[in-house]
Amino acid sequence: MSELNELKKKLAMSSRMLFNSGLVDYSGHISVRIPGSDHLLILPHPVSRATVAPDDMVVTDFEGKLIEGKYHAPSEVFMHARAYKARGDIQSVAHLHNHMVAVLSMVDKPFYPASSNPCAFFGPGPMPLYMDPALIHTIEQGDAVAKTLGKNEAVMLRGHGSMVVGQAIEWVFAGCVDLEEAASRFYKASLLGPVRVYNDDETQRVMKGRHKDSVVQKVWDHNVAKTKLAGLMEGV
Ligand SMILES: [Zn+2]
Repeated sequence: MSELNELKKKLAMSSRMLFNSGLVDYSGHISVRIPGSDHLLILPHPVSRATVAPDDMVVTDFEGKLIEGKYHAPSEVFMHARAYKARGDIQSVAHLHNHMVAVLSMVDKPFYPASSNPCAFFGPGPMPLYMDPALIHTIEQGDAVAKTLGKNEAVMLRGHGSMVVGQAIEWVFAGCVDLEEAASRFYKASLLGPVRVYNDDETQRVMKGRHKDSVVQKVWDHNVAKTKLAGLMEGV
């Protein structure tokens, strides 16, 4: 299988896995940089995240312009395109309307790393928060999100969701899973009292144990199996 076809397959798999994990529904998307180019592959606009196939993926440039594909690019493609433009070190991006992260983005309280498994795929310190609640429909808005993201691996979008970036599709998928679980735990702990957030040293030590290929592969393999069991991997 060619490298491009392999990436399309992994995008379709990860989209169905995000759906099966309740992290995307009718919206939300994951993309990948086409190696050595100024183009990206992304889930198209009108196709269900639960049934998308490798051949459905579309290609855009880093201005969000459609280059190739039988469908439209999603309207928020600018978030992906401008993240790749700003960050030469990242290979994959996901944008989620993830429920618990969106909830935490709505309160005036920083979201800190505070639980180890699932880990802090972010930190040290609180997760950056992009304050403009509008959807990301322009290059300028995409640039503004990338600026708030900075060198981090995730950014919360106020009242909206999040963007997660990483070195490969598998890493971004694992980051999405861990981020939502961390947000869910943080929310529940907050109801009981002040949260014992991790200091910088604690965050670094936790990340050292979790931030590695073997852990990411474990999260990926588990979700491949879970999604197959749900009957959602047909045709990939
Ligand atoms: Zn959105």
